[in-house]
Amino acid sequence: MQVTKHKVAVINYVLKDEQGNTIDQSTDGNFAYIHGTQSIVPGLENAMEGKKAGDQLDVSIPPEDAYGDRQLENIQTVTRDMFPPDVELKIGMQFQAQSPQGQPLILTITSIEGNNVVVDGNHPLAGKQLNFNVEVVDVRDATEEEIEHNHVHGVGDNQH
Ligand code: ZN
Repeated sequence: MQVTKHKVAVINYVLKDEQGNTIDQSTDGNFAYIHGTQSIVPGLENAMEGKKAGDQLDVSIPPEDAYGDRQLENIQTVTRDMFPPDVELKIGMQFQAQSPQGQPLILTITSIEGNNVVVDGNHPLAGKQLNFNVEVVDVRDATEEEIEHNHVHGVGDNQH
């Protein structure tokens, strides 16, 4: 069976950045997704099309097919009084906010100078080329319930 729209693919993968550092991995057969539902980055989903159990693939994905480029407009300087007074701010600290479109946004503090705090709302992997080494473990039909819920049940289930 080949990976096509609404098949569930179970994959093992190792994700490395351009320097060869491992950013993320799942190698115990516990990662599964429903193909054609944009639940993984577009570059990887495209590369998975037509694959079958046992296939191995190495995919290099440019930022535009992954988490996009870093946008300067997502980096903002705000003042210290935007934060609760009892929180000790540190570089690298992350907190959740909302984008103007109402999407959840993770902001990371990248600089603190006096009363000015620079926050970066870019995805941590924005602007990075992603290098995936993937092994296709299993391919099966998604159930109607899985398609309705837009997530996998059983292996890889982290929603129930
Ligand atoms: Zn469900």
